[in-house]
Amino acid sequence: MANVLVIATVADGALSRSSLELVAGARTIAPAVGGGIDAALLAAEAADGAVEALHQHGVGVVHRVVHPLLATGQSDAYLAAAEACVRAASPAVVLVAADTVGREIGPRLAYRLGAALATEATGLEVADGTVVVHRQVYGGRAVATLAVRRTPAVVTVKPRALDAPAPAPTAGVVRDLPVQLADDALPTRVREIVREQAEVGLEDAQIVVSGGRGIGGPEGFKLLAELAQVLGGAVGSSRPPADAGWVPISWQIGQTGKTVRPLLYLAVGISGATQHVAGMAGARTIVAINKDPEAPIFGVAHLGIVGDYREVLPPLIAKVKALKGQ
Ligand SMILES: Cc1cc2nc3c(=O)[nH]c(=O)nc-3n(C[C@H](O)[C@H](O)[C@H](O)COP(=O)(O)OP(=O)(O)OC[C@H]3O[C@@H](n4cnc5c(N)ncnc54)[C@H](O)[C@@H]3O)c2cc1C
Repeated sequence: MANVLVIATVADGALSRSSLELVAGARTIAPAVGGGIDAALLAAEAADGAVEALHQHGVGVVHRVVHPLLATGQSDAYLAAAEACVRAASPAVVLVAADTVGREIGPRLAYRLGAALATEATGLEVADGTVVVHRQVYGGRAVATLAVRRTPAVVTVKPRALDAPAPAPTAGVVRDLPVQLADDALPTRVREIVREQAEVGLEDAQIVVSGGRGIGGPEGFKLLAELAQVLGGAVGSSRPPADAGWVPISWQIGQTGKTVRPLLYLAVGISGATQHVAGMAGARTIVAINKDPEAPIFGVAHLGIVGDYREVLPPLIAKVKALKGQ
């Protein structure tokens, strides 16, 4: 029976959130391919907690590859391990997170398998018994709907595009796959991993305070950081502040940046270009602060404040502090 195979990874010792999101996608499409859900768990150590989390969310067979090189973000190592799992599982559809490593291994995996490929999916569903993939095109101005007409198929899915699934425990098994990986044989080597310096990771933050070109420079972002800090959130940006070096490039949200799905997204001095909206439209509540009442961001915002952010933010910060008794 043909299954859906999720390529799962471990972050800080636990199953990564994007892996769980893939399981949600697999649960949606598994009925159309007539089978269950398997996972390939690629990890540097046994990660029994991650195996258990996969079983708890409906994954039957976990094909596990454990190797120290799978701690490094070295995509050639992940590719070799993923390929071994895919060949062992013979799935109809392989789901890969479109993160830094997944973006590299998805197309290469499809090539090696002679499989169909759809990248950067923002939604998965079944229509007329066929797996259907949604992805943004024309810089986020339109959504393309692709029917998967041939299997095997590899689909990469944007992190935070899907919600994590509710538990659906199943009795599962683990199959350990011995994969030979030698550092010397890999064409590239990761020399340094620099951790993002942030109290709250942008992609996991429930509140994101985001600034655009209208902030005017790095100084203005201090005000945004203060608001994010009192709200317990993270700071993000549109592309111009990242391009200008006012903020780290890792803060950029949008088509070519990160996708976020917080409960609250504050867009400050951001016009609302489609390429930016592509990365934050999934936020539960969007609040825009912009001095131009005609700015397109007000078209996607649930609440809008027309004004100069330098005048709006200080009283807002003071009010939040007062409410929190600070
Ligand atoms: C292929 C491609 C990919 C791209 N990818 C991305 C992406 O991933 N993310 C992204 O963000 N963009 C991306 N862009 C760029 C995108 O098209 C826009 O140029 C960008 O989003 C605009 O950023 P902005 O809203 O900060 O700046 P602007 O469009 O210049 O808007 C600034 C806003 O600030 C307001 N403002 C000015 N001063 C103040 C003030 N004192 N108080 C309050 N409001 C004020 C203005 O009224 C204006 O609305 C991409 C573009 C291309 C072509």
